[in-house]
Amino acid sequence: MKELVLASNNLHKIEEIRSILTDYKILSLNDIGFNFEIDEDQDTFEGNAEKKAYTIYKYCNKPTIADDSGLCVDKLSGEPGVYSARYSSTGKDYDNIQKVLKKLNGEESTARFISVISYVNENGEVFNFRGEIEGKIINELRGNNGFGYDPIFYVEDYKKTFAELTSEEKNKISHRNRALQKFYDYLKEI
Ligand code: IMP
Repeated sequence: MKELVLASNNLHKIEEIRSILTDYKILSLNDIGFNFEIDEDQDTFEGNAEKKAYTIYKYCNKPTIADDSGLCVDKLSGEPGVYSARYSSTGKDYDNIQKVLKKLNGEESTARFISVISYVNENGEVFNFRGEIEGKIINELRGNNGFGYDPIFYVEDYKKTFAELTSEEKNKISHRNRALQKFYDYLKEI
């Protein structure tokens, strides 16, 4: 079985990727013994994902994927964007949400979640795959599922926020899943 390193120790991401890339042996950072921090200091999702994937590829010399994701709100000129995880001073989900709502000052706004997966192949070549899902930021929190900005991200097709969807429903349409599917299609092609 071919090996593919996932530059993450997030069990949720590892399981999601294992369930799609079933012909690959997915290795986590723990599996390859990498326990350093990689600074996500780039100003694009592609930049951060590439930096993570390439750093790990250089460490273990195996094909590697990494992802970077976040929420872009149109009326906030694309914020929080690459700063999604640490938008508020605490970086806690609730505080990040409150900062978005405060800046929107009671208005709703179109928005999208974006996920970029960077793949570094065995020759060190880098390929990026981008997935997006469109929605709307509402000015109240709805639902208890999911994480991050899910309670304020409303999807018209379902008439629900991401936090009101089951994880199966969310995973079917999520930005991460869309990026992963593109990566999966690419692997099937080559
Ligand atoms: P990272 O890609 O793991 O660095 O995540 C970036 C941040 O974007 C997370 O901490 C969340 O705040 C936000 N985010 C990314 N994907 C989602 C999602 O599916 N739902 C809610 N928030 C998300």
